[in-house]
Amino acid sequence: MLISENLDKAINEQVGREFGASLQYISIATYFDTDNLPNLAAFFYRQADEEHMHAMKFVNYIVDAGGKVEIPAIPAPKSDIGSAQEAVELALEWEVEVTRQINGLMSLAIEENDYIAQDFLRWFETEQLEEVSTMDRLLSIVRRGVDNILFVDDYLSRNPIVEEGSAEGDASA
Ligand code: MG
Repeated sequence: MLISENLDKAINEQVGREFGASLQYISIATYFDTDNLPNLAAFFYRQADEEHMHAMKFVNYIVDAGGKVEIPAIPAPKSDIGSAQEAVELALEWEVEVTRQINGLMSLAIEENDYIAQDFLRWFETEQLEEVSTMDRLLSIVRRGVDNILFVDDYLSRNPIVEEGSAEGDASA
């Protein structure tokens, strides 16, 4: 067994939060989908897939390290979204919070001299830089297009804000 009980517990909690993020992004995507904003919807459906993949990465790590997977109850996502700006602000807040959580896991791995976990968690640190900066960019675009969100959706069709081959690209590796 290459994982302490403490870290096993903390990573299981993170599995729950990543699945929770996935549900939250599906909920946001449907808000845009219902409003006939296909590019904003596609962006958040993609984010939802990514969060699901993050959860699975943590699950696989626990299994590989000989720990026990105990997925916690996932809270219902917020579904009463009032505006595009509110949706993206919610997503940005969430990503900043996730960054704090990943930092917390890293601190625990450092405390325990768990170098394998530190190596594993470093991927997520890089990923969070990407997630926060992407969401921050989207928020600045949405704020400028707040009077006509159709412009924002159209802008996204011509200017994808997630670069191909970024951290998400090697996620399946
Ligand atoms: Mg994530």
